[in-house]
Order: sequence, then C-alpha cells, then structure tokens
Amino acid sequence: MKVIDQHYINGRFVPSQGRETMDLISPVTEEVIGKVVLGDERDIRDAITAAKAAFPAFSRTSIAERGEMLQRLHDAVMARVDELTEAAVQEYGSPLAASRGRTVFAAKAFLLTKEAMASFDFERVTGTTKVVMEPLGVVGAITPWNANYTHICGKIAPALATGNTIVVKPSEISALQTQILTECLAAAEIPAGVINIVNGTGTIVGAEISSNPDISIISFTGSTGVGKTIARDSAATLKRLALELGGKSPNIILDDANFKEAIPRAIQIAFSNTGQACHAGTRLLIPASRLEEAKKLLIEAVSATKLGYPDDPNAALGPLVSRKQFDTVQHYIQAGIDEGAELITGGLGRFEGFEHGYFARPTVFIGAKNDMKIAREEIFGPVLSVIAYETEEEAVSIANDTIYGLAAYVSSGDHERASRVASQIVAGRVLVNKGVHDDPYAPFGGFKQSGIGRDSGHYGLEEFVEPKALLGFTQA
Ligand code: NAD
Repeated sequence: MKVIDQHYINGRFVPSQGRETMDLISPVTEEVIGKVVLGDERDIRDAITAAKAAFPAFSRTSIAERGEMLQRLHDAVMARVDELTEAAVQEYGSPLAASRGRTVFAAKAFLLTKEAMASFDFERVTGTTKVVMEPLGVVGAITPWNANYTHICGKIAPALATGNTIVVKPSEISALQTQILTECLAAAEIPAGVINIVNGTGTIVGAEISSNPDISIISFTGSTGVGKTIARDSAATLKRLALELGGKSPNIILDDANFKEAIPRAIQIAFSNTGQACHAGTRLLIPASRLEEAKKLLIEAVSATKLGYPDDPNAALGPLVSRKQFDTVQHYIQAGIDEGAELITGGLGRFEGFEHGYFARPTVFIGAKNDMKIAREEIFGPVLSVIAYETEEEAVSIANDTIYGLAAYVSSGDHERASRVASQIVAGRVLVNKGVHDDPYAPFGGFKQSGIGRDSGHYGLEEFVEPKALLGFTQA
C-alpha cells in the first residue's frame, strides 16, 4: 500500500512535518488503497516562503523562457499519462477512457496557456499612459477532487505564464494522483520554489493559505460554501480572489426541439462524470405539452447509459467518489421523494448488481418544482430534476431563479430562437444545441454565487495580473 508522506517544497520532496494520516479509499471496492500524511501550518508556511523567495527572479523571466517551461510541463505530464490515468481510476473509479481523456486535457492546459500567453497584451497603451500587466506574487491554489489533474494544471499554467509563483493545496482525497503528477512537474526542471505542492486538509493547510499575508491571490475551485469561507478568511489581507464554485445549471428544451436528440443529450449533460461535474445541467426544463413524450425518452436514455466498473469499455458512469458523496446523494433522493416529485427511474440504494462500491442509481424526478430542495441545491451526483413550464418566458424565469449562474443549456429547432433565450439566461456559459464544453479558449466561470472571475485563455490570464500604469510614458 502506498503511503504519501512528503510535500514538494522549494524544488525538493520533503518529509511532512504534520503527522496526522488519512486513509485513501477505493470507491469501487471500499478498501483502503493508500494513506496520506497530512501537512500542517509549518509545511504550508515553508512552501509559501519558498514561493515568495522565488518570485523576484521568476517574475523577470521572458515570455519565451516561460513558454519553454510550459512546454516542458506538458511533455512531463504526457510522459506518464498511463500511470496518471491508472491512479485516477484507482482513486475515483471513473471509466478508464473518460479518465484518460481528462488526464490528457490536464496536460494540454500547459500548451493552451502557452499559446494564449503568446498573444496576451502584457503591455497596453491608454492615452499617454503605458499599462504593464504585472504578476501579483505568490498564488495560493486550492483545488477539488472531481478532476484533480485538470484543476492543478489549470491553475499552475496561467499562474506561471503571467510570472507568478504558486503553492497548491490539492484535495486531500486525491493524494495518490497528486503524488505522480507532482513527480511529473518536478521532472520539468522549473526553478526551485516556483511550484510547491502541499497535501493537507482545507481547515488547516487551506485556512493558512487564506490568511497568510504572503499570498497575493487565491485561485480556488470548489464548493460555494468553502468559497465563502475563503473569502471571509482572506478579507483581512485583502487578497485577490478567483473563485470557481458550484452550480445548479438549467437545461431548457424548447417546444420546437428535436426531443430524440435533446433528451439523450440532457442525460449526458446531467450525468457527465457520474453527475460530479460543476457544470452538470441538473434542472431540466420541459414544455408541459410534451412532458409525457419526454418522460418516455428520459427512461430510455437512462437505461441506455451504462453504469459499470472502470475497465468496462461500455460504461459511461461509475461510482461516486466517496461514502460521503454516496450518502449525500441518498439524502437528496429521499428529499425528492418526501417533497412529492415523481421518481421515474433510479431511487434509493446501491445500483442493482453491485455488491460493494459507491454505485448510486442514476435517478430522474419529474414533476419537480423549482422551490424543492432537489431543484435548488447542488447534489453532485446522478440526480436530475425535471420541471415543467408553460411558456418560454416562464422557462427563462425558472432558469434564472437560482443562487447559481455557472452554466446553462438551450435546445431548439430554431437556432435564432435558442440564441434569444440563451441571451436572457444569467450564467457564465450557455450552450446552444450542444452539451460538450469543447472550446478551450471560451471563458469559464460563474455569475452570482457560482464564483468570481474566469478561467481559460486570455480571460484566465487576466486573473493573475494587476495593471500598473506608467503615466507620461508616451507623448500625446
Ligand atoms: P470542497 O469545497 O469541499 O473542497 C475544495 C477544496 O477546498 C479542497 O481542497 C478542500 O480541502 C478545500 N477546503 C475545504 N475547506 C476549506 C477551508 N475552510 N479553507 C480552505 N480550503 C478548504 O469541494 P469538493 O467537494 O472538493 O468539490 C466539489 C465542489 O467543487 C462542487 O461544489 C463543484 O461544483 C465545485 N467545482 C467547481 C468547479 C468550477 O469550475 N466552477 C469545477 C469543479 C468543481
């Protein structure tokens, strides 16, 4: 059994000073597959000190030098893509092909960022003033478990591209994956102290990042609740915040849509990563006049979506990541039943045919109302709430009646009509007649309580720079 007992600080793997250990559990077998020794305040403070010391020299590197580093980081991750995928499968249990896709995508973040950096305006002119977009200093990155590599690489890439140094606290339940990824990053020969990675809990290591005066910006991806805690904890030192938080995204199917396409797509949008996706479209808005037709197609689409073990090539869904997540999903399914929504497929308990593992039953409720718990709160599992509407205006109003604003989806036979509806939805991203987030340079992030700031391309780079105005630099 693997024991992860080191952190990566100042260019070296060093033993953890924190001594508390935590079991890493397979979501497929429920057996202990590893242990992680959790860092404490001393470990993260050492990492922040190293990042602070590395900043002056690193912030003066050229775009070309940083481009070479991003290329090396990409190559180093790709060199071990199979091992990384295997670790992700072990720790998360998600289907192999999907896990591999996410790993490759994580490596690609370095190349996409390299390309975006090459055309980023680090120097701008306004009137007679030159504006230089300067790095902020030490970035404190805190990441969730649901796509560990994507989030770690997705934060390191723009932080480095803009000349910042970084400390990362990944999700503590992803330590096996983080260890291999860190070995890859270490092999890329980035100057010591520029990248530091410390395992630990949110309440100890994360909280220190939030309050430490030497952290200039926090780049956080995770739940809205923890995002608010970080915002509170970081207020005393007035850090910049980039927060990518939760969602309860609406998917509006208009009455002129091709239901044979739109309904299977709705299931894929809701249940991607077994429903453990921040942009999952978990509120499905269906015209009341076509509800019966939708019901039949929904049942068919769910039964065609295979749930299975990671090595099953036909499996689209796997187990939930942990006992905690499984219990949360059970809690919400019970809440849907108690509130009177109609269960048309799925329900409580483990998926039929699985004796162990956190395999929840993909579940669809129809007749849900937008004020029900299952329609208001993020569940983070394969549970879809179908809400009927009478008019287009009502559909838009229901879609926007949420504290969240991360993503939204619209399907219609008339592209102009779909675009008109899309323009009225308050969300960081609206996908029209499609379900895949496939434009890597499109900004990603939330309105309202889904967050502050944007990831991807130039929008992502903007989060990590501060404009410095040099007045009188040019003559009018
Ligand atoms: P989480 O908020 O529980 O944890 C995220 C990270 O925050 C972990 O590393 C955790 O250790 C840390 N943390 C916990 N308490 C902390 C504290 N007090 N101070 C500092 N750090 C703390 O989220 P999770 O369960 O790991 O991930 C699922 C959530 O992430 C969902 O809400 C999902 O919507 C969200 N998410 C959002 C996006 C996005 O881009 N908007 C992407 C993926 C996941």
